[in-house]
Amino acid sequence: MRDVVALRLDDVGAASKRYEVYGVTRVAVGPWSMPFPGNALFLKYLPPIKRWGPYRELGPGDWDAIFAALQGARARLTVAVTAGWVERDGRVTPYPRKFADAAGRLRDGVRQGLVEIANHGYTHCVLENEAYRPRWFSGNRRYHREFHEWIPSERHHEHLRRAQEILQSFFGVAVVTFVPPGNVFTRATLDAAAAAGLRYVSCSDAGRFGSAGGLVPVADDAVRAIHDRDVVRGGMAWLNDLLRSIAPPPITVREIAERCQEPAV
Ligand SMILES: [Zn+2]
Repeated sequence: MRDVVALRLDDVGAASKRYEVYGVTRVAVGPWSMPFPGNALFLKYLPPIKRWGPYRELGPGDWDAIFAALQGARARLTVAVTAGWVERDGRVTPYPRKFADAAGRLRDGVRQGLVEIANHGYTHCVLENEAYRPRWFSGNRRYHREFHEWIPSERHHEHLRRAQEILQSFFGVAVVTFVPPGNVFTRATLDAAAAAGLRYVSCSDAGRFGSAGGLVPVADDAVRAIHDRDVVRGGMAWLNDLLRSIAPPPITVREIAERCQEPAV
């Protein structure tokens, strides 16, 4: 039997799904230098313009369907929630207030033991100078990562602490798994995460700084990471296919990390 893996779904509550828009400037029209006016006529024959956002937030009905799928597959899921939704004017609304119905349903999933809530940052993006907003002439992907090394370490602390407060008070559980938005973090981020009570870090190459800050990195090959965007686009058929393809049924990141911590017998 293959080793059990964790299934992790990222970006719930992250406003990057609204503002992270990129790729539009990379459409390859250059090679065909059109010698006549009316290029626009050809544009509609180009492949679809690839973008990350916008796409919608998962609603209460989606969560009901996800929980039914998990129960059917005897699976569990880590949901990495970005605790604050960034409004267009830069104000931050806690996820449980912004999407009250969905958040309530997600809490039901926690109470049923189907879901672990992980910390996926406070904003997922850089708030300074409205860097998160879409631009006219360039992509903004870089600004949709929250914990760059050029962000002061106090900000790392503040964001992780706020996210922990929102998530733990609403979901009523200890949140111990940190999922750095966009795989970007520094040693200072890990110190801040530890100070906020987080114990495990899960993302691609989570062990790049060893176990700095005392956080335990979870191995890449022990986690299957997906995004809420995959479920929005692929629907439940996609998720059910995925669950069928993972044997034995997946568990949470926390459970994987705890198993690895158990002393060898
Ligand atoms: Zn993310």
